[in-house]
Amino acid sequence: MNIVLMGLPGAGKGTQADKIVEKYAIPHISTGDMFRAAIKEGTELGLKAKSFMDQGALVPDEVTIGIVRERLSQQDCEKGFLLDGFPRTVPQAEALDKILSDMDRKIDHTINIQVDKEELVARLSGRRICKVCGASYHLVFNPPKVEGKCDKDGGELYTRADDNPETVANRLEVNMNQAQPLLNYYEAKGVLTNIDGQQNIDKVFADLDALLLEGSRS
Ligand SMILES: [Zn+2]
Repeated sequence: MNIVLMGLPGAGKGTQADKIVEKYAIPHISTGDMFRAAIKEGTELGLKAKSFMDQGALVPDEVTIGIVRERLSQQDCEKGFLLDGFPRTVPQAEALDKILSDMDRKIDHTINIQVDKEELVARLSGRRICKVCGASYHLVFNPPKVEGKCDKDGGELYTRADDNPETVANRLEVNMNQAQPLLNYYEAKGVLTNIDGQQNIDKVFADLDALLLEGSRS
């Protein structure tokens, strides 16, 4: 089962990816992991990628795509894979289609975990840090026992500048603008499924699971 999983920061993509790869026993392939592995193994493409990253430059598409091609050709991907963080752009999506068609394969599911912007801002701006010990809390997911105070030392909790709702909203806007052409691409091909990511974690996974089971029967 070949899956591309998409979702904005805060949509719960990582959590759901973990659940999918566990249940379906396919490798979770993220761009970061792929780069790290290629660099560690010292492959030609890995070294190329490293030279760009060392300069703080973006790794060019041809290098990234080459690394994806190598990774998807490995034996553990024979039964399928879950791609996370790739493709990010339409040219990358086209390159992925080419890689797979060369291997006589295709994407079975392109899944977008959908969460409203307002909800994402609430999730991403909920982090609070203790001024005394640096412990991290979240207003929704990991609230302190007493509002505004650290559980361990009673220290005052504050919001990092990066977590201000306005900063978070601006960051999300950039992400949304980048993701939209890719969503349009898969939508036009008729392979995009949107999953409601505003439900609780188990319900989101139940929806994903139903979709994947349906796909594996056909
Ligand atoms: Zn503390």
